[in-house]
Amino acid sequence: MDCRELFASVCETRGKIHDPTGSVDEDSFAELESHRRYEELAAAHPNESVSKITARFIEDSYTRTKKRRMKQALRWTKKTMEKLIRDEPDTSLSKLDRKRMVREIHRVELGWPDPDELTPDQKEILHRPLAHYIRTRDSLQIILGGGYVRSTTSWFNLVFTLAHEIAHAIDPCEQKKKGWVADTSLVYPRLNRCFAVTGLLVEQNIYGPQPKASTQECGRTDQRPEVFADWLAGRVTALALKEFSQEFDNRQLEASVKNAVRDLCTPGPEDPHDLAANAPDEHPSQRIRIELLFARNPMIREVLSCEPQPPTERYCAFDSL
Ligand SMILES: [Zn+2]
Repeated sequence: MDCRELFASVCETRGKIHDPTGSVDEDSFAELESHRRYEELAAAHPNESVSKITARFIEDSYTRTKKRRMKQALRWTKKTMEKLIRDEPDTSLSKLDRKRMVREIHRVELGWPDPDELTPDQKEILHRPLAHYIRTRDSLQIILGGGYVRSTTSWFNLVFTLAHEIAHAIDPCEQKKKGWVADTSLVYPRLNRCFAVTGLLVEQNIYGPQPKASTQECGRTDQRPEVFADWLAGRVTALALKEFSQEFDNRQLEASVKNAVRDLCTPGPEDPHDLAANAPDEHPSQRIRIELLFARNPMIREVLSCEPQPPTERYCAFDSL
């Protein structure tokens, strides 16, 4: 596999990609399939109310087996991320930072659409192929869209998707909201500087190039939270891939890597991340997300037997100089 072309090879593959743990379908099919299933249920029960059909549909999408697997993936992802943070040396994250970060990660939970109390947020994501986090006063909940649950069974995609959402619990803007810092420039300063100098924070979004001055701290064009969430999710997913790297052959590993980041191929201008709090939701381009943030991870390169990273292509860390 040409590691430099990961973006093309992930995003130009059509149909479902299968790895030994499951598969990931294209986002557009996932959403269509979800709507199709809803219509099918409605046609089979013509005398039932919309809310009854919706309840049937939720039960049909979020089956007990699926929920069990999502919960298992959440547990693994939280545990792995917590260990990763705990293992950072004092020189990169202070004891207090690590303690607070681990506590926040631990609090993240999975939520499910409730047919009896379907909030507008939940209604909107019933067919969506995405994950969302919703912050309430005392918890951070991840809600997986119905289209996502229906179309994604790959362990690696579950881990990446959940890790990205969990990472938002400790992203720079979230830390400011929690009152841990007065200014986001104090959060992960060396990591953010590395993101900037390696071209990961681009002053451009779906509305076109933005002059630097318009990037308000935690405003709509501030990409730091999203870059951070992708970076941390990549590190956690690399550990998941590494765990299986001995038992999978090369072809299976390639499919697993592709599946991990497959849904990043869909652009997200309307991506309703963090619906409740209206937080920044601007992602870097898909190419940056897949090629620079994900495929530059040294452990992922090792799993894929890529050549060593050229020294010009740095991979950032909490204690990057
Ligand atoms: Zn995000």
